[in-house]
Amino acid sequence: MSKTRITVAKGDGIGPEIMDATLRIILAAGAQIEIDEIEVGEKVYLAGNTAGISKEAWDTIIRNKIFLKAPITTPQGGGYKSLNVTTRKTLALYANVRPCRSLHPFVETKHPVMDVVIIRENEEDLYAGIEHQQTDEVVQCLKLISRPGSEKIIRYAFEYARAYNRKKVTCFTKDNIMKQTDGLFHKIFDEIGAEYPDIEKEHWIVDIGAAKLADTPEAFDVIVMPNLYGDVLSDVAAQITGSVGLAGSANIGDEYAMFEAIHGSAPRRAGQNVANPSGLLQGAILMLIHIGQGDVAERVQNAWLKTLEDGIHTYDIYKEGVSKQKVGTSEFADAVIARLGQMPKTLKPVSFKAGTAFKLPKYERKAPAKKDLVGVDLFVHWPGFNPNEIGKMMEALNHDNVYLDMITNRGVKVYPDGFEATFCTDHWRCRFKTNDGKNLTKQQIIDLLTKAEAHGIDVIKTENLYYFNGERAFSLGQGQ
Ligand code: NAD
Repeated sequence: MSKTRITVAKGDGIGPEIMDATLRIILAAGAQIEIDEIEVGEKVYLAGNTAGISKEAWDTIIRNKIFLKAPITTPQGGGYKSLNVTTRKTLALYANVRPCRSLHPFVETKHPVMDVVIIRENEEDLYAGIEHQQTDEVVQCLKLISRPGSEKIIRYAFEYARAYNRKKVTCFTKDNIMKQTDGLFHKIFDEIGAEYPDIEKEHWIVDIGAAKLADTPEAFDVIVMPNLYGDVLSDVAAQITGSVGLAGSANIGDEYAMFEAIHGSAPRRAGQNVANPSGLLQGAILMLIHIGQGDVAERVQNAWLKTLEDGIHTYDIYKEGVSKQKVGTSEFADAVIARLGQMPKTLKPVSFKAGTAFKLPKYERKAPAKKDLVGVDLFVHWPGFNPNEIGKMMEALNHDNVYLDMITNRGVKVYPDGFEATFCTDHWRCRFKTNDGKNLTKQQIIDLLTKAEAHGIDVIKTENLYYFNGERAFSLGQGQ
Protein backbone atom coordinates (compact mmCIF):
# COMPACT_ATOMS: atom_id res chain seq x y z
CA MET A 1 0.00 0.00 0.00
CA SER A 2 1.39 3.43 -0.86
CA LYS A 3 1.92 5.75 2.05
CA THR A 4 -0.27 8.79 2.67
CA ARG A 5 1.62 11.99 3.44
CA ILE A 6 0.05 13.84 6.35
CA THR A 7 0.78 17.08 8.18
CA VAL A 8 1.25 16.87 11.94
CA ALA A 9 1.31 19.72 14.47
CA LYS A 10 2.36 18.77 18.00
CA GLY A 11 0.80 21.91 19.45
CA ASP A 12 1.20 23.29 22.95
CA GLY A 13 0.88 22.18 26.58
CA ILE A 14 0.26 18.43 26.67
CA GLY A 15 0.16 18.42 22.83
CA PRO A 16 3.69 17.05 22.14
CA GLU A 17 3.30 14.20 24.68
CA ILE A 18 -0.09 13.02 23.47
CA MET A 19 0.96 13.38 19.82
CA ASP A 20 4.10 11.28 20.38
CA ALA A 21 2.00 8.60 22.09
CA THR A 22 -0.62 8.67 19.33
CA LEU A 23 1.89 8.43 16.48
CA ARG A 24 3.77 5.63 18.23
CA ILE A 25 0.53 3.61 18.56
CA ILE A 26 -0.71 4.06 15.00
CA LEU A 27 2.71 3.40 13.46
CA ALA A 28 3.04 0.23 15.54
CA ALA A 29 -0.38 -0.82 14.24
CA GLY A 30 0.89 -0.49 10.68
CA ALA A 31 -0.37 2.96 9.62
CA GLN A 32 0.99 3.69 6.16
CA ILE A 33 1.79 7.36 6.62
CA GLU A 34 4.63 9.77 6.04
CA ILE A 35 4.76 12.78 8.29
CA ASP A 36 5.58 16.43 7.68
CA GLU A 37 5.74 18.26 10.99
CA ILE A 38 4.81 21.93 11.21
CA GLU A 39 4.86 24.38 14.07
CA VAL A 40 1.64 26.20 14.93
CA GLY A 41 0.26 27.81 18.06
CA GLU A 42 1.59 29.68 21.05
CA LYS A 43 5.22 30.19 19.97
CA VAL A 44 4.11 31.37 16.54
CA TYR A 45 1.49 33.71 18.02
CA LEU A 46 3.95 35.16 20.53
CA ALA A 47 6.52 35.71 17.78
CA GLY A 48 4.05 38.26 16.40
CA ASN A 49 2.07 36.17 13.90
CA THR A 50 -1.59 36.83 14.89
CA ALA A 51 -2.79 33.86 12.81
CA GLY A 52 -0.62 31.38 14.78
CA ILE A 53 0.71 29.77 11.59
CA SER A 54 3.47 30.65 9.11
CA LYS A 55 3.08 30.75 5.33
CA GLU A 56 5.35 27.67 4.95
CA ALA A 57 3.32 25.67 7.48
CA TRP A 58 0.13 26.64 5.69
CA ASP A 59 1.64 25.51 2.34
CA THR A 60 2.40 22.12 3.89
CA ILE A 61 -1.22 21.73 5.07
CA ILE A 62 -2.48 22.63 1.59
CA ARG A 63 -0.07 20.22 -0.13
CA ASN A 64 -0.79 17.20 2.07
CA LYS A 65 -4.54 17.80 2.50
CA ILE A 66 -4.69 15.65 5.67
CA PHE A 67 -3.86 17.38 8.97
CA LEU A 68 -3.53 15.77 12.41
CA LYS A 69 -3.42 18.53 15.00
CA ALA A 70 -2.69 18.45 18.73
CA PRO A 71 -4.38 21.14 20.88
CA ILE A 72 -2.84 24.57 20.88
CA THR A 73 -2.87 27.45 23.35
CA THR A 74 -4.35 30.66 22.02
CA PRO A 75 -2.81 33.49 24.07
CA GLN A 76 -5.36 35.68 25.85
CA GLY A 77 -6.30 39.06 24.31
CA GLY A 78 -4.12 40.86 21.78
CA GLY A 79 -6.14 40.18 18.61
CA TYR A 80 -4.92 36.59 18.16
CA LYS A 81 -7.12 34.75 15.70
CA SER A 82 -8.28 31.22 16.43
CA LEU A 83 -6.30 28.83 14.27
CA ASN A 84 -9.11 26.30 14.47
CA VAL A 85 -11.68 28.67 13.00
CA THR A 86 -9.25 29.86 10.31
CA THR A 87 -8.41 26.28 9.31
CA ARG A 88 -12.04 25.14 9.19
CA LYS A 89 -13.15 28.06 7.07
CA THR A 90 -10.18 28.39 4.75
CA LEU A 91 -10.12 24.68 3.92
CA ALA A 92 -13.94 24.50 3.69
CA LEU A 93 -14.15 21.79 6.36
CA TYR A 94 -17.92 21.81 6.42
CA ALA A 95 -18.55 18.73 8.55
CA ASN A 96 -17.51 18.33 12.16
CA VAL A 97 -17.94 14.73 13.24
CA ARG A 98 -17.74 13.75 16.88
CA PRO A 99 -18.46 10.17 17.99
CA CYS A 100 -19.43 10.04 21.68
CA ARG A 101 -19.57 6.56 23.15
CA SER A 102 -19.56 5.53 26.78
CA LEU A 103 -17.12 2.92 28.04
CA HIS A 104 -19.15 1.55 30.91
CA PRO A 105 -18.22 -0.06 33.31
CA PHE A 106 -14.61 0.97 32.79
CA VAL A 107 -15.14 4.72 32.68
CA GLU A 108 -17.68 6.15 35.11
CA THR A 109 -20.76 7.61 33.41
CA LYS A 110 -24.44 8.10 34.19
CA HIS A 111 -25.22 6.79 30.69
CA PRO A 112 -23.82 3.28 30.30
CA VAL A 113 -25.25 2.52 26.84
CA MET A 114 -24.64 5.78 25.05
CA ASP A 115 -23.28 5.69 21.49
CA VAL A 116 -24.07 8.94 19.66
CA VAL A 117 -22.38 10.64 16.73
CA ILE A 118 -22.83 14.41 16.53
CA ILE A 119 -22.49 15.84 13.03
CA ARG A 120 -22.21 19.61 13.22
CA GLU A 121 -22.31 22.06 10.33
CA ASN A 122 -18.97 23.82 10.62
CA GLU A 123 -18.93 26.92 8.41
CA GLU A 124 -22.06 29.05 8.63
CA ASP A 125 -24.97 29.93 10.94
CA LEU A 126 -24.06 32.63 13.51
CA TYR A 127 -20.40 31.68 13.01
CA ALA A 128 -20.27 33.63 9.75
CA GLY A 129 -19.21 36.30 12.23
CA ILE A 130 -21.08 39.15 10.52
CA GLU A 131 -21.88 41.56 13.33
CA HIS A 132 -22.79 45.25 13.44
CA GLN A 133 -23.77 47.81 16.00
CA GLN A 134 -26.73 49.66 14.49
CA THR A 135 -28.01 52.00 17.16
CA ASP A 136 -26.91 53.10 20.62
CA GLU A 137 -28.84 50.22 22.10
CA VAL A 138 -28.80 47.42 19.54
CA VAL A 139 -26.18 45.18 17.94
CA GLN A 140 -26.89 42.37 15.52
CA CYS A 141 -25.26 39.12 14.37
CA LEU A 142 -26.41 37.70 11.05
CA LYS A 143 -27.45 34.07 11.10
CA LEU A 144 -26.75 32.69 7.63
CA ILE A 145 -28.04 29.28 6.65
CA SER A 146 -27.46 28.34 3.02
CA ARG A 147 -29.08 25.64 0.91
CA PRO A 148 -25.73 24.23 -0.30
CA GLY A 149 -24.30 24.30 3.25
CA SER A 150 -27.34 22.53 4.69
CA GLU A 151 -27.62 20.00 1.87
CA LYS A 152 -23.96 19.06 2.20
CA ILE A 153 -23.99 18.51 5.97
CA ILE A 154 -27.31 16.67 5.95
CA ARG A 155 -26.29 14.42 3.08
CA TYR A 156 -23.02 13.80 4.90
CA ALA A 157 -24.98 12.71 7.98
CA PHE A 158 -27.09 10.22 6.00
CA GLU A 159 -24.09 8.85 4.08
CA TYR A 160 -22.24 8.51 7.38
CA ALA A 161 -25.17 6.63 8.89
CA ARG A 162 -25.25 4.26 5.93
CA ALA A 163 -21.49 3.66 5.86
CA TYR A 164 -21.34 2.97 9.59
CA ASN A 165 -24.49 0.91 9.72
CA ARG A 166 -26.33 3.40 11.90
CA LYS A 167 -30.09 3.13 12.06
CA LYS A 168 -31.37 6.64 12.68
CA VAL A 169 -30.53 10.26 11.88
CA THR A 170 -32.04 12.97 14.10
CA CYS A 171 -32.10 16.65 13.24
CA PHE A 172 -32.16 19.42 15.89
CA THR A 173 -33.35 22.94 14.98
CA LYS A 174 -35.37 25.78 16.45
CA ASP A 175 -37.65 26.19 13.45
CA ASN A 176 -40.73 26.97 15.52
CA ILE A 177 -39.08 30.39 16.05
CA MET A 178 -36.60 30.75 13.15
CA LYS A 179 -38.88 29.64 10.36
CA GLN A 180 -36.68 30.92 7.55
CA THR A 181 -33.18 29.87 8.67
CA ASP A 182 -33.75 26.78 10.82
CA GLY A 183 -36.87 26.18 8.75
CA LEU A 184 -34.69 25.75 5.65
CA PHE A 185 -32.37 23.34 7.49
CA HIS A 186 -35.35 21.25 8.62
CA LYS A 187 -36.96 21.31 5.18
CA ILE A 188 -33.73 20.11 3.55
CA PHE A 189 -33.46 17.39 6.22
CA ASP A 190 -36.89 16.13 5.10
CA GLU A 191 -36.00 16.41 1.40
CA ILE A 192 -32.68 14.57 1.65
CA GLY A 193 -33.97 12.12 4.24
CA ALA A 194 -36.51 10.92 1.68
CA GLU A 195 -33.58 9.62 -0.41
CA TYR A 196 -32.61 7.28 2.45
CA PRO A 197 -35.64 5.04 3.06
CA ASP A 198 -33.44 2.52 4.90
CA ILE A 199 -32.66 5.01 7.67
CA GLU A 200 -35.06 6.18 10.36
CA LYS A 201 -35.48 9.96 10.56
CA GLU A 202 -36.73 12.31 13.22
CA HIS A 203 -36.66 16.00 14.07
CA TRP A 204 -36.59 17.57 17.54
CA ILE A 205 -36.81 21.19 18.57
CA VAL A 206 -33.31 21.79 19.91
CA ASP A 207 -34.28 22.78 23.45
CA ILE A 208 -36.21 19.65 24.30
CA GLY A 209 -33.87 17.59 22.07
CA ALA A 210 -30.89 18.82 24.10
CA ALA A 211 -32.66 17.98 27.34
CA LYS A 212 -33.46 14.50 26.04
CA LEU A 213 -29.86 14.02 24.84
CA ALA A 214 -28.48 14.96 28.26
CA ASP A 215 -31.01 12.74 30.03
CA THR A 216 -31.50 9.75 27.69
CA PRO A 217 -28.65 9.71 25.15
CA GLU A 218 -29.38 6.08 24.30
CA ALA A 219 -32.45 7.34 22.39
CA PHE A 220 -30.15 8.85 19.74
CA ASP A 221 -27.86 7.48 17.08
CA VAL A 222 -26.59 10.13 14.59
CA ILE A 223 -27.62 13.76 15.22
CA VAL A 224 -27.14 16.50 12.62
CA MET A 225 -27.31 20.17 13.60
CA PRO A 226 -26.54 23.71 12.49
CA ASN A 227 -23.26 25.15 13.77
CA LEU A 228 -24.17 26.79 17.10
CA TYR A 229 -26.32 23.97 18.49
CA GLY A 230 -23.70 21.47 17.32
CA ASP A 231 -20.90 23.38 19.02
CA VAL A 232 -22.69 23.36 22.36
CA LEU A 233 -24.23 19.90 22.22
CA SER A 234 -21.16 18.05 20.94
CA ASP A 235 -19.37 19.11 24.14
CA VAL A 236 -22.35 18.04 26.23
CA ALA A 237 -22.46 14.66 24.48
CA ALA A 238 -18.72 14.07 24.90
CA GLN A 239 -18.79 15.10 28.56
CA ILE A 240 -21.64 12.78 29.53
CA THR A 241 -19.86 9.73 28.12
CA GLY A 242 -17.59 10.19 31.13
CA SER A 243 -14.84 12.55 30.00
CA VAL A 244 -14.07 15.06 27.26
CA GLY A 245 -10.56 13.64 27.45
CA LEU A 246 -11.69 10.53 25.55
CA ALA A 247 -13.24 12.07 22.44
CA GLY A 248 -11.74 12.96 19.09
CA SER A 249 -13.21 14.83 16.20
CA ALA A 250 -12.91 15.06 12.44
CA ASN A 251 -13.34 18.22 10.39
CA ILE A 252 -14.11 17.12 6.86
CA GLY A 253 -14.28 19.00 3.56
CA ASP A 254 -14.45 17.92 -0.07
CA GLU A 255 -10.68 18.12 -0.44
CA TYR A 256 -9.11 18.68 2.96
CA ALA A 257 -9.58 17.21 6.43
CA MET A 258 -8.32 17.98 9.92
CA PHE A 259 -8.39 15.59 12.91
CA GLU A 260 -7.94 16.43 16.56
CA ALA A 261 -8.84 15.76 20.20
CA ILE A 262 -11.74 17.81 21.44
CA HIS A 263 -9.98 18.98 24.61
CA GLY A 264 -7.47 21.82 24.91
CA SER A 265 -3.77 21.99 25.70
CA ALA A 266 -4.21 21.53 29.49
CA PRO A 267 -1.12 23.66 30.25
CA ARG A 268 -1.09 22.74 33.95
CA ARG A 269 -0.53 19.09 33.04
CA ALA A 270 2.14 19.73 30.41
CA GLY A 271 5.54 18.05 30.54
CA GLN A 272 4.59 15.60 33.31
CA ASN A 273 3.76 12.50 31.26
CA VAL A 274 0.30 12.31 32.88
CA ALA A 275 -2.15 13.40 30.14
CA ASN A 276 -4.51 10.93 28.55
CA PRO A 277 -3.65 10.55 24.84
CA SER A 278 -7.03 8.91 24.07
CA GLY A 279 -8.77 12.00 22.61
CA LEU A 280 -6.05 12.59 20.04
CA LEU A 281 -5.80 8.84 19.38
CA GLN A 282 -9.53 8.86 18.59
CA GLY A 283 -8.89 11.76 16.18
CA ALA A 284 -6.10 9.72 14.56
CA ILE A 285 -8.44 6.73 14.21
CA LEU A 286 -10.96 8.91 12.37
CA MET A 287 -8.09 10.04 10.14
CA LEU A 288 -7.04 6.47 9.34
CA ILE A 289 -10.61 5.61 8.34
CA HIS A 290 -10.75 8.74 6.20
CA ILE A 291 -7.56 7.86 4.30
CA GLY A 292 -8.75 4.34 3.61
CA GLN A 293 -6.80 2.55 6.35
CA GLY A 294 -9.85 1.27 8.20
CA ASP A 295 -8.12 -2.03 8.99
CA VAL A 296 -5.38 -0.21 10.91
CA ALA A 297 -7.98 2.02 12.62
CA GLU A 298 -9.85 -1.09 13.70
CA ARG A 299 -6.73 -2.72 15.20
CA VAL A 300 -5.94 0.43 17.14
CA GLN A 301 -9.49 0.94 18.39
CA ASN A 302 -9.92 -2.65 19.57
CA ALA A 303 -6.53 -2.59 21.33
CA TRP A 304 -7.47 0.72 22.97
CA LEU A 305 -10.79 -0.71 24.18
CA LYS A 306 -8.96 -3.76 25.55
CA THR A 307 -6.46 -1.52 27.37
CA LEU A 308 -9.28 0.40 29.06
CA GLU A 309 -11.03 -2.86 29.87
CA ASP A 310 -7.85 -4.19 31.48
CA GLY A 311 -8.00 -1.23 33.84
CA ILE A 312 -4.88 0.51 32.53
CA HIS A 313 -5.95 4.11 33.10
CA THR A 314 -4.44 7.59 33.13
CA TYR A 315 -5.17 9.80 36.15
CA ASP A 316 -8.22 11.50 34.63
CA ILE A 317 -10.23 8.26 34.43
CA TYR A 318 -8.50 6.31 37.20
CA LYS A 319 -10.92 5.03 39.82
CA GLU A 320 -10.12 2.91 42.85
CA GLY A 321 -11.89 -0.46 42.57
CA VAL A 322 -12.42 -0.24 38.79
CA SER A 323 -8.95 0.66 37.53
CA LYS A 324 -6.04 -1.76 37.92
CA GLN A 325 -3.04 0.43 37.17
CA LYS A 326 -2.50 4.18 37.04
CA VAL A 327 -0.18 4.97 34.16
CA GLY A 328 1.37 7.97 32.44
CA THR A 329 0.94 9.03 28.81
CA SER A 330 3.83 7.01 27.48
CA GLU A 331 3.01 3.84 29.50
CA PHE A 332 -0.58 4.03 28.30
CA ALA A 333 0.71 4.05 24.72
CA ASP A 334 2.94 1.03 25.51
CA ALA A 335 -0.09 -0.80 26.91
CA VAL A 336 -2.16 -0.16 23.77
CA ILE A 337 0.72 -1.27 21.54
CA ALA A 338 1.11 -4.47 23.58
CA ARG A 339 -2.58 -5.26 22.90
CA LEU A 340 -2.59 -4.67 19.13
CA GLY A 341 -4.36 -7.66 17.60
CA GLN A 342 -6.47 -8.29 20.74
CA MET A 343 -10.21 -7.78 21.09
CA PRO A 344 -12.12 -6.29 24.00
CA LYS A 345 -14.29 -8.81 25.90
CA THR A 346 -16.93 -6.68 27.61
CA LEU A 347 -16.93 -3.59 25.41
CA LYS A 348 -18.17 -4.12 21.88
CA PRO A 349 -15.34 -4.57 19.38
CA VAL A 350 -15.49 -2.28 16.35
CA SER A 351 -15.38 -3.10 12.69
CA PHE A 352 -14.44 -0.33 10.29
CA LYS A 353 -14.29 -2.53 7.20
CA ALA A 354 -17.69 -1.41 5.97
CA GLY A 355 -17.41 2.11 7.24
CA THR A 356 -14.52 3.47 5.26
CA ALA A 357 -14.28 6.87 3.67
CA PHE A 358 -17.13 7.89 1.39
CA LYS A 359 -17.40 10.61 -1.19
CA LEU A 360 -20.42 12.85 -1.52
CA PRO A 361 -21.81 13.65 -4.95
CA LYS A 362 -20.82 17.10 -6.15
CA TYR A 363 -23.35 19.71 -5.06
CA GLU A 364 -25.73 20.58 -7.88
CA ARG A 365 -27.08 24.10 -7.82
CA LYS A 366 -30.85 24.50 -8.12
CA ALA A 367 -32.41 26.63 -10.86
CA PRO A 368 -33.05 30.18 -9.63
CA ALA A 369 -36.60 30.75 -8.35
CA LYS A 370 -39.06 33.40 -9.51
CA LYS A 371 -38.46 36.29 -7.16
CA ASP A 372 -41.08 38.98 -6.43
CA LEU A 373 -40.21 42.11 -4.49
CA VAL A 374 -43.30 42.82 -2.39
CA GLY A 375 -42.04 45.24 0.22
CA VAL A 376 -39.14 46.63 2.20
CA ASP A 377 -38.19 46.93 5.86
CA LEU A 378 -36.50 50.21 6.75
CA PHE A 379 -34.55 49.89 10.00
CA VAL A 380 -34.50 53.20 11.81
CA HIS A 381 -32.42 54.53 14.71
CA TRP A 382 -34.83 56.72 16.70
CA PRO A 383 -34.38 57.42 20.39
CA GLY A 384 -38.00 58.53 20.92
CA PHE A 385 -39.41 55.28 22.36
CA ASN A 386 -43.05 56.09 21.50
CA PRO A 387 -44.44 53.78 18.81
CA ASN A 388 -47.34 56.07 17.90
CA GLU A 389 -44.99 58.99 17.33
CA ILE A 390 -42.66 57.06 15.01
CA GLY A 391 -45.75 55.58 13.34
CA LYS A 392 -46.93 59.05 12.34
CA MET A 393 -43.37 60.01 11.30
CA MET A 394 -43.06 57.01 9.00
CA GLU A 395 -46.56 57.37 7.54
CA ALA A 396 -45.43 60.72 6.20
CA LEU A 397 -43.25 58.72 3.78
CA ASN A 398 -46.25 56.98 2.16
CA HIS A 399 -46.36 57.72 -1.56
CA ASP A 400 -48.02 56.33 -4.72
CA ASN A 401 -49.16 52.84 -3.80
CA VAL A 402 -46.46 52.43 -1.10
CA TYR A 403 -47.63 52.54 2.51
CA LEU A 404 -46.43 51.80 6.03
CA ASP A 405 -47.72 48.34 6.92
CA MET A 406 -46.40 48.03 10.49
CA ILE A 407 -43.53 48.79 12.84
CA THR A 408 -41.82 46.26 15.12
CA ASN A 409 -39.35 46.71 17.94
CA ARG A 410 -37.09 43.68 18.58
CA GLY A 411 -39.47 41.73 16.36
CA VAL A 412 -42.72 42.55 18.20
CA LYS A 413 -45.38 44.59 16.43
CA VAL A 414 -45.77 47.94 18.20
CA TYR A 415 -47.60 49.96 15.52
CA PRO A 416 -50.42 50.14 14.67
CA ASP A 417 -52.27 48.79 17.73
CA GLY A 418 -49.31 47.85 19.90
CA PHE A 419 -49.49 47.03 23.61
CA GLU A 420 -48.47 49.69 26.05
CA ALA A 421 -46.45 47.25 28.15
CA THR A 422 -44.09 46.30 25.28
CA PHE A 423 -40.61 47.59 26.03
CA CYS A 424 -39.09 49.54 23.14
CA THR A 425 -35.45 50.18 22.26
CA ASP A 426 -34.11 52.80 19.83
CA HIS A 427 -34.13 50.25 16.93
CA TRP A 428 -37.30 50.21 14.81
CA ARG A 429 -38.21 48.05 11.83
CA CYS A 430 -40.67 49.90 9.60
CA ARG A 431 -42.31 47.70 6.97
CA PHE A 432 -43.53 49.27 3.72
CA LYS A 433 -45.63 47.42 1.17
CA THR A 434 -47.74 48.17 -1.87
CA ASN A 435 -51.49 48.42 -1.40
CA ASP A 436 -52.58 47.34 -4.88
CA GLY A 437 -51.04 43.86 -5.10
CA LYS A 438 -48.33 45.12 -7.47
CA ASN A 439 -44.63 44.45 -6.89
CA LEU A 440 -42.51 47.16 -5.36
CA THR A 441 -39.77 48.58 -7.58
CA LYS A 442 -36.21 49.33 -6.53
CA GLN A 443 -36.89 52.93 -7.56
CA GLN A 444 -39.73 53.11 -5.03
CA ILE A 445 -37.28 52.00 -2.32
CA ILE A 446 -34.86 54.71 -3.41
CA ASP A 447 -37.75 57.24 -3.28
CA LEU A 448 -38.63 56.07 0.23
CA LEU A 449 -35.02 56.54 1.35
CA THR A 450 -34.85 59.96 -0.29
CA LYS A 451 -38.02 61.03 1.53
CA ALA A 452 -36.74 59.61 4.80
CA GLU A 453 -33.52 61.59 4.40
CA ALA A 454 -35.53 64.76 3.67
CA HIS A 455 -37.54 64.16 6.86
CA GLY A 456 -34.35 63.70 8.93
CA ILE A 457 -35.07 60.01 9.61
CA ASP A 458 -31.94 57.97 10.43
CA VAL A 459 -32.31 54.81 8.31
CA ILE A 460 -29.55 52.40 9.29
CA LYS A 461 -30.34 49.59 6.88
CA THR A 462 -32.98 48.10 4.61
CA GLU A 463 -34.09 44.53 3.95
CA ASN A 464 -36.08 43.68 0.85
CA LEU A 465 -39.14 41.47 1.25
CA TYR A 466 -39.48 38.75 -1.36
CA TYR A 467 -41.73 35.93 -2.43
CA PHE A 468 -39.71 33.06 -3.92
CA ASN A 469 -41.79 30.97 -6.35
CA GLY A 470 -44.92 32.49 -4.85
CA GLU A 471 -44.02 31.67 -1.23
CA ARG A 472 -43.49 34.31 1.44
CA ALA A 473 -39.77 34.36 2.27
CA PHE A 474 -39.65 36.71 5.27
CA SER A 475 -41.04 36.55 8.78
CA LEU A 476 -44.13 38.41 9.94
CA GLY A 477 -43.99 40.68 12.95
CA GLN A 478 -44.60 38.89 16.25
CA GLY A 479 -48.22 39.61 17.13
CA GLN A 480 -49.02 40.52 13.51
P1 NAD B 1 -8.55 21.97 28.45
O1 NAD B 1 -9.33 21.01 27.64
O2 NAD B 1 -7.13 22.16 28.07
O3 NAD B 1 -8.58 21.50 29.98
C1 NAD B 1 -9.78 21.30 30.71
C2 NAD B 1 -9.54 20.30 31.86
O4 NAD B 1 -9.40 19.00 31.34
C3 NAD B 1 -8.25 20.56 32.66
O5 NAD B 1 -8.48 20.24 33.99
C4 NAD B 1 -7.27 19.61 32.04
O6 NAD B 1 -6.22 19.26 32.92
C5 NAD B 1 -8.14 18.42 31.67
N1 NAD B 1 -7.65 17.73 30.48
C6 NAD B 1 -7.77 18.15 29.19
N2 NAD B 1 -7.22 17.26 28.36
C7 NAD B 1 -6.76 16.25 29.12
C8 NAD B 1 -6.10 15.03 28.82
N3 NAD B 1 -5.81 14.68 27.57
N4 NAD B 1 -5.75 14.23 29.84
C9 NAD B 1 -6.04 14.57 31.09
N5 NAD B 1 -6.67 15.69 31.45
C10 NAD B 1 -7.03 16.54 30.47
O7 NAD B 1 -9.35 23.35 28.45
P2 NAD B 1 -8.93 24.80 28.94
O8 NAD B 1 -8.15 24.69 30.23
O9 NAD B 1 -10.14 25.59 28.89
O10 NAD B 1 -7.97 25.37 27.81
C11 NAD B 1 -6.54 25.35 27.85
C12 NAD B 1 -5.99 25.90 26.54
O11 NAD B 1 -6.38 25.05 25.46
C13 NAD B 1 -6.48 27.30 26.16
O12 NAD B 1 -5.40 28.06 25.68
C14 NAD B 1 -7.47 27.05 25.03
O13 NAD B 1 -7.49 28.14 24.13
C15 NAD B 1 -6.88 25.83 24.39
N6 NAD B 1 -7.86 25.00 23.64
C16 NAD B 1 -7.45 24.51 22.46
C17 NAD B 1 -8.27 23.69 21.72
C18 NAD B 1 -7.78 23.17 20.39
O14 NAD B 1 -6.65 23.43 20.03
N7 NAD B 1 -8.59 22.43 19.65
C19 NAD B 1 -9.55 23.35 22.19
C20 NAD B 1 -9.95 23.84 23.45
C21 NAD B 1 -9.08 24.66 24.16
